[in-house]
Amino acid sequence: MQASVSTTSLPFAAAVAAAREGEVTREEACALIRAREGAEFDSLLAAAAALRNQLRGRRISYSKKVFIPLTNLCRDYCGYCTFRKDPGQPGARTMMPDEVLAVAEAGARMGCKEALFSLGDRPEAAFPEMREALGRLGHATTLSYLAQMCERVLNETGLLPHANPGLMGRKDLEALRRFSPSMGLMLESTSDRLIGPGQPHDNAPDKAPRLRLKTIAEAGRQRIPFTTGILIGIGETLDERVDALLAIRDLHQRNGHIQEVIIQNFRAKPDILMRDHPEPGLADLARTIAVARLVLREISVQAPPNLSDETYPFLIQAGLNDWGGISPLTRDFINPEKPWPQIDALADRTAAAGFELTERLSVYPDYIFRDGFLEPDLAAKVRAMADTAGFATV
Ligand code: SF4
Repeated sequence: MQASVSTTSLPFAAAVAAAREGEVTREEACALIRAREGAEFDSLLAAAAALRNQLRGRRISYSKKVFIPLTNLCRDYCGYCTFRKDPGQPGARTMMPDEVLAVAEAGARMGCKEALFSLGDRPEAAFPEMREALGRLGHATTLSYLAQMCERVLNETGLLPHANPGLMGRKDLEALRRFSPSMGLMLESTSDRLIGPGQPHDNAPDKAPRLRLKTIAEAGRQRIPFTTGILIGIGETLDERVDALLAIRDLHQRNGHIQEVIIQNFRAKPDILMRDHPEPGLADLARTIAVARLVLREISVQAPPNLSDETYPFLIQAGLNDWGGISPLTRDFINPEKPWPQIDALADRTAAAGFELTERLSVYPDYIFRDGFLEPDLAAKVRAMADTAGFATV
């Protein structure tokens, strides 16, 4: 990771000019993210939107999904998390196989094509109750149970699993890639400061940046189409935001596997440790999306519309090209107070901004016909669900 340096000396105009030409340096990206309100801010967004139009066209994609919170037990205690539970806490839950399949089947009936498995990180390492539950299911680890459920959902419902279970080792990725054609792990931040005392990742051993970078790098070695992202507004500096984006770019340049980068904005909730922490505003989110576009260039840049209330169409102007997974069936278990927009409304508001809302699969079009990324059996299944451009057939 690069050391933090003072970055204000480079004129903003020079940084925008460099971004229009090609790959930006850290110094340029740090100047870009400091765009001042007014002409600089407008110029930043215009450069990002132009690059998006050039590289990704006039479509804004989304994936029709069901959300399967396989377990909300987690050994970490992130300061912003409302999802995790300890055993015995109200709402603590590990889904049984028939419950998982029932949700996936209901989603399939509603036209969903993705089963997003999101879950707590290694609960069996902290809780004997989870070890016992897994033992009754015939597994020693949550990730082994997850792999079996991905296999069953894929084979019994036709939905494409997208596994998002926290840190994964080489063998976990090898097991999961057979049934989960794409996977994800939020990098969130590369700042080691944020794991220090009193910081959001103070009591979250799985949020050490070097461990998350290791998982994402291993996914690259295994050529797994991979989703990652950053979480903004949790106490990181602007330079640290840039460093996280550069780390993602670096991993992608080595292995070409980053299909999508999510720019997620922190939202305060009454039941979290960070309940009084200020939320990043819309302009802060927009400037980060714009810099992500200019740093990451052809990689898909996503922001969830439900985390920006009714103002989300503005983010199109900042250069995103994807709204992420939208569920017609299940709520956003990570932000339960923020319902997803209806897909028809999302299509209308995207069209009003001059773009066509287009359904994609959990695997991005860029990876569906490329050799070496998907297991052969899985590639055949995915391709059968895609049109010639790699988007979902509806
Ligand atoms: S954000 Fe993820 S890792 Fe952190 S506490 Fe919540 S479920 Fe666990």
